[in-house]
Parts: sequence; C-alpha cells; structure tokens
Amino acid sequence: METYDVMIVGAGIVGLTIARELSQRWPDARLLLLEQEHSLAAHQSGHNSGVIHSGIYYRPGSLKARLTLESRARLLRFLDEEKLPYEISGKLVVAVRPEELAKLRDLYENGRVNHVPGIRLMGQEAMREVEPHVRGLKAIYVPSTGITDYRQIALRVAERLAERGVIIQTGEAVKRLQIQPHMVVAETQTGLQAAARYLIAAAGIQADRLARAAGLKPASRIIPVRGGYWTLLPHSRHLVRSLIYPVPDPRLPFLGVHFTRRISDQAVWVGPNAVLASHRTQHRRGALNLRDLADTAGFPGFWRLARRFWRFGAGEWYRDHWIFAYLRQAQAYVPELTRQDLSPGPFGIRAQLVDADGAMVDDFRIMSAGRAIFVLNAPSPAATASFAIARHVVDEGARNFGWTLLPPQL
Ligand SMILES: Cc1cc2nc3c(=O)[nH]c(=O)nc-3n(C[C@H](O)[C@H](O)[C@H](O)COP(=O)(O)OP(=O)(O)OC[C@H]3O[C@@H](n4cnc5c(N)ncnc54)[C@H](O)[C@@H]3O)c2cc1C
Repeated sequence: METYDVMIVGAGIVGLTIARELSQRWPDARLLLLEQEHSLAAHQSGHNSGVIHSGIYYRPGSLKARLTLESRARLLRFLDEEKLPYEISGKLVVAVRPEELAKLRDLYENGRVNHVPGIRLMGQEAMREVEPHVRGLKAIYVPSTGITDYRQIALRVAERLAERGVIIQTGEAVKRLQIQPHMVVAETQTGLQAAARYLIAAAGIQADRLARAAGLKPASRIIPVRGGYWTLLPHSRHLVRSLIYPVPDPRLPFLGVHFTRRISDQAVWVGPNAVLASHRTQHRRGALNLRDLADTAGFPGFWRLARRFWRFGAGEWYRDHWIFAYLRQAQAYVPELTRQDLSPGPFGIRAQLVDADGAMVDDFRIMSAGRAIFVLNAPSPAATASFAIARHVVDEGARNFGWTLLPPQL
C-alpha cells in the first residue's frame, strides 16, 4: 500500500481548492484525492446558482464573512489567469413589502460593517435604471456581485493538479477510515486501500457520514434540502438584466428565490426554493433513499427544527408543487412575468448541517480530530469562499500538525 503525505476525500470545489493550496505551499507533498463519483464537481459544486457573492449577508466576524471577502480576490485572480468566464454584473436586493424595509436597512448596515464595496440604498427610479422591469419599494445595489461557472472552475483546478502530479482517483467512495497514531488508512467501496500521514475530508453532503466512518460522533447531522429552479424562456430573458434577490429572512440560512443570469448561455434561472429532500444525491424531484430518509427522521434535531419552521417548510412545499404560487412569488419582483415565460429548470441539493438542538448551522464549520481535518459545513457561499476556505484549512493543518509551508499566494 502506497503512503501519501495528505489524502483528501471529496472532489467538489472545496476539496479541489484545498489540494491546490497544499500543492502550491508544500510543492513536494505527495497528495491523493479520492472522489466517489466518476466525474468531478458532480454535486453542489456543479449544481448551484453560479453567483460570486459579495459578503453582504454574513455575520460580521464569522468565517463566512471573512473567508468570502478574502476568497473573492483570489477567485477573480484565478479566473483572470485561467481566462475562465465571469462577469461582475452587480445585483439588487429588493424590498417589496413595507415590513421588509427595516430588514433591508439592517442588511445594508451589515454590508457596510463587512466592508462590501460600493453598496447603495436606492429608491424605485434608481432601481429601474439598474433593472428596468423590477418592482419594489427600495433596494440595495451591490456592485461587486458577479456570476461565473463553478463546475468549469473545479475542472480547471483539477487539470492543474494533475499537471503537478496530484493523483485524483474517481469512482472511489470512501467507506471506512481509521485514524491511527501515525497515519490514516482509508478503504473504498471497490476495495481500494490508501494510506496517508494526514487526512482532509471535504465530502459536502456526506460530511457527517464520513466523520462517523472515522469513528467520530458529531452531534450534528446533515439534512438534505432540495433547491429547484425554473428558467425564463428565451422570449422573456430581457426581463432580467443581471441578478435580483429578495430580502432574506434573517432566521434562515437561505437567500430566497432569486433571478440569476447564467454566464454560460445567458439564460435566466428563477430559484432555488428550499424543500426537504428524501435523498442526498439525486438531482430530481421525488427521489427517495431509505437510508437518507431514516438518517433525517431518526435525528431528534430534525424534529426540533421541524417544530420551529414547519410553516416555512409547508409554504415551500406548496409553491414547489403549485407553479402558480411559485410564479406569484416571482411576480412580486418582476410583475410582467407570466406562466408562459417559465419552463422547468434543474435542481441542486444543499447540505444543511443541523445541530442536536434543531438550530441550522449557518457558518462554515471545520473540525480537527487526530491526524485529520473535517470540513463539516460548507454551505453557500462556499463556492465563492472556496479559495479562502482552502487557505484556512491548510493553515489549520500547519498549526495542528507542524507542516512547514510556503506562504499563501495572494
Ligand atoms: C442550489 C444551490 C445553489 C447555490 N448557489 C451558490 C452560489 O450561487 N454561490 C456560491 O458561492 N455558492 C452556492 N452554493 C453553495 C456551493 O455550491 C457549495 O457550498 C459548494 O459547492 C460546496 O462545495 P463542496 O466541495 O464542499 O461540496 P460538493 O460540491 O458537494 O463536493 C463534495 C464531494 O465529495 C464527494 N464525496 C462525498 N462522500 C464521499 C466519499 N465517502 N468518498 C469519496 N467522495 C465523497 C462527493 O461526491 C462530492 O463530489 C449553492 C448550493 C446549492 C445546492
């Protein structure tokens, strides 16, 4: 059995950027990346809105706030160097009801505390200069928000890793992990055994299971939340220039159904909603996996969460099944929209970490155990923040394990 310096599990954008950071700062490290699917970025990193977030939403001082702001610069530099497509197109966060105005102002103040550049409060006339078909009472204009394609970024990072000799093995689902005093041994579903001096797990929606496979007992569990999109048919795409978002409910980690222009084909997506899913990995409606369902139903934290948020959950389920209700929600921002403008779009499944007390974990959560580091919670905007999450995790490795590393590249 060959022994590597570091084994990374999960080739989504977080696992890949961690491998990139390690390969840059520890150039002669022998790195192995194991991915269960036969393709890279097959889950959250390839099924998202493609937004480069600005950092306006996140609690000042939180990992999300700090790492999103730090990552943007590194991400944009990578996109420039690699000539990958992106556009800093700006976005509007729009209040459509009087009771949202106070929350809009709080969000604006939050953005200022987080040093989000150039944000402006605007009235109806100014917001229509940005988005001629939008309706609302007041809005925040966030000029630094943009769009890109995270799957393409992940694939390009993987190409560069392969050029540097990093071994990426797909189709290898890690089932067992032994964290021993001097090394970590992994066994995959195909019977492959791999050993490394250290382990970094970035398994997205399976992060809790991988931690349990290593003998840890995280008190939290991942609950899968399906996000469905509708797309605007080509004749109605002119209704949205760039990005239109609602004012989010500060109690929830979701941003609400928004309008997003796609970088790849200039299509406009409307979504995602947030519906409890009975499957962690199938990107379609109605998929069922008994193990995934049992994991959710058997977790007391889920029932505490359900008691608190059943009304929100029921509303999302209703709008998910009744297109006219979904449409009404979207028309609050773009009143000219009609049923004839919409066609069903793709799905993405969010990994929502929930604590035993039923609280949805909002911030990124990274946990060390023995010779291993587990990325337990990397929800949105972890695609935007991935380049800084990678820096953070690798620095944690240096602190915990005494790695001697080159300084991070800016
Ligand atoms: C609908 C939706 C919209 C979003 N919109 C945005 C957005 O606009 N902007 C933004 O910044 N973020 C957005 N996000 C969040 C972002 O996509 C995720 O936070 C990010 O992709 C997480 O990356 P990851 O690598 O941790 O997870 P993933 O991409 O899910 O990767 C985890 C990988 O681990 C692999 N794996 C799991 N278990 C094992 C195992 N046992 N053995 C081997 N491999 C394993 C999986 O197959 C997978 O490839 C969105 C997310 C969703 C779902």
